[in-house]
Amino acid sequence: MSKLKELKNIDWTEIDWQKELKNNINSIDSLTQYIDLSEDEEKTLREVVDNHPMNIPRYYLSLIDETNEKDAIRKLALPSEEELVVAGSMGETTQDPYGDDKHNKGNGILHKYPYSALVVATDYCSMYCRHCFRKAIVGLPNDKTVENFQRAAECIREHKEITNVVISGGDPLLINTRRIKKILESLIDIDHVNYVRIGTRTPVVYPMRFFDEELLEAFREFNKRKALYLPTHFNHVSEITDIAKEAVLKIREAGVTVNNQAVFLEGVNDSVEDIEDLMNGLVRIGVNPYYLYQCMPVSRVRHHFQVPLKKGVDIVDKAKERLDGYAKRFKFIMGHDIGKIEICGRVDDKLILKHIHSRPEKPHEASQIKIMQLDDKAGWLDDMQEISL
Ligand code: SF4
Repeated sequence: MSKLKELKNIDWTEIDWQKELKNNINSIDSLTQYIDLSEDEEKTLREVVDNHPMNIPRYYLSLIDETNEKDAIRKLALPSEEELVVAGSMGETTQDPYGDDKHNKGNGILHKYPYSALVVATDYCSMYCRHCFRKAIVGLPNDKTVENFQRAAECIREHKEITNVVISGGDPLLINTRRIKKILESLIDIDHVNYVRIGTRTPVVYPMRFFDEELLEAFREFNKRKALYLPTHFNHVSEITDIAKEAVLKIREAGVTVNNQAVFLEGVNDSVEDIEDLMNGLVRIGVNPYYLYQCMPVSRVRHHFQVPLKKGVDIVDKAKERLDGYAKRFKFIMGHDIGKIEICGRVDDKLILKHIHSRPEKPHEASQIKIMQLDDKAGWLDDMQEISL
């Protein structure tokens, strides 16, 4: 039996989540024990991993379908030679597509919208997803994470306009439970904060995390006084496994609402059936489809992951025609430097956009409609000219 097949027989519910992190596949040498690579591939992937580290939990690796070269899980987890292409055929790229650096208030706090504070709690993730828009910081030395959460909480307390806090990363749920409790405790008595979100991909790539009863108890306790939400990131129906479903159930039983923020990715979920199956799969396990992000123009990502907008909007519209009300609640959006923009649809070669969150310095832009001239190639706002009706 191949080593990859052996992984499929492990009972992940019996695994200690902290010890298991040490078994992650984080070097090409360890990857070759599970996946066949030619000598040339091995050499190229070593170069890729030098630029962007690899980290794959054995659980997530076990989901790969060895018989399918185009398997979505493989594309999401394994480095590829296309990451050596900094920009490529889709156009210009950047390290900071969502304006994180511009809106960094220091001490790991991003204040991108007046009402939300985002705290970068860690740069570590159980998996380094190959399409990550924070590719420039995850798993790499940087000074963007919070040093002292208590000070961050004080800053949030002083800003009465902040109604919600996002604890983000990296993946904050890879922090030990004792520290997560402290983080939550520091926010619980701030009156003007209505709710807290913990952005995490652990239900998808590391569901063993939710077999820690102490974490669930911390969620339960917090929820008694303030609403806790868990935005997560399923991209493909094959990620919705029995154990992922069990993890989601445990989170929901702790009273936490789970919303999904998928990314629209070429070779992963760029067909009507992929979107339909993903959204139906989510509502079946009690996860709310919330956003479908257009892949950002990130260096070493855009070229092989971004779907042109014209193709994308047609796929999303077709999928929505088939989906029921709850499954089609998600918004197709661009998380842009100027704010969040909903991609509403197209009329011939005109793309209809709506600004749904504007930056603090330009509040008048919120709710504005934009009409853009669309062609077959455009993949981002900056590729198009604004036109009038
Ligand atoms: S878990 Fe999230 S932050 Fe971490 S690499 Fe994946 S997409 Fe990026």
